[in-house]
Amino acid sequence: MYPWQNKIWEALVKNNTSIGHAILLKGKKGIGKLGFAKSMAKFLLCESQEIIDEACDNCLSCRWFEQNSHPDFNLVEPDALAESSNGFQTRLGSTSNDKLISTKLKNKPSKQIGIDKIRALSDVINMSSHRNGYKIILIQPAESMNIAAANALLKNLEEPPPQTLFILVAHNPHGLLPTIRSRCKQITMPVPELSLAKSWLEQNGVKEAHSALALVSNSPLTALENNTNNYYLEHMNFINNISALKKFNPLALAEELQKTDLPTMVNWMQKWCYDLMSYRITGKIRYHLSMQSRIEELVLRIDLLQLAGYLRRLIDMQRLAHHTLNPRLFLEEILISYAQLMAQARGKYVK
Ligand SMILES: [Zn+2]
Repeated sequence: MYPWQNKIWEALVKNNTSIGHAILLKGKKGIGKLGFAKSMAKFLLCESQEIIDEACDNCLSCRWFEQNSHPDFNLVEPDALAESSNGFQTRLGSTSNDKLISTKLKNKPSKQIGIDKIRALSDVINMSSHRNGYKIILIQPAESMNIAAANALLKNLEEPPPQTLFILVAHNPHGLLPTIRSRCKQITMPVPELSLAKSWLEQNGVKEAHSALALVSNSPLTALENNTNNYYLEHMNFINNISALKKFNPLALAEELQKTDLPTMVNWMQKWCYDLMSYRITGKIRYHLSMQSRIEELVLRIDLLQLAGYLRRLIDMQRLAHHTLNPRLFLEEILISYAQLMAQARGKYVK
């Protein structure tokens, strides 16, 4: 649990009885929904008689929970997430592990929750709990269920099994069937105030917390994760590259970026161009707070219509990024178009 969740925790815990059989924790990515869901599950499973408002951390149930071996707790998530949370880095290619990654890429773990994972819950649902308390099923992110899985889950929600609590976590609740949403008690999870998120990040050893937060739309957990796995540095390296007026070399950068996850890279470009556009029109920067002087320098020379066209094109490229067969060509195309967009700015700069 995180400091910005205290109020909602109190509200939920005090109203223990009204939790019902299914809750949906919704809110943007990186604000600690999963951590909250797990704290809640642990609290509901805790067997200490003396607890008032949080899990005791001492009873057998709490210890099982911490070891991921509680028999009445079931976490359902896509294979891709399960693997990455086991320490396998799927997002960015790491140079030390190339071999492992190239074999993994051939056989990508699924990003969906398929019907097999929901069917596998039937044992849990049909049997009584091991410890005479709740059986808890946590599905995250719930919108990653495919349609068959979602329909299978819906049946369970329509006829709620006794003593069973479903906790659904969703970054994008509109990706869920409306019939699933309506059967859950919906809770909008709080986004921390900027100052709180910033101090929390600093306590966790993140320097440049303000910039790191802006880059990820103020999602503190995402900022922390990016800081831990050097993703922030890679991102800034990319921005430094494309914002350099004279030195920008699209082909060299495409070569360098070959192991970068393509959708991620397109997203970086989208955020960068968004800031160029936003600064030009409103004078505001949303993502790249530390780059203001560079942005100022660039935007005056960019053709606004061309920039708008490029931004539209990036939306299509974002879709294609998941399926492209030739990453190198894909990267070159994006970067060369960007270079053309900048050519005018560069030309004037050189003069
Ligand atoms: Zn306990």
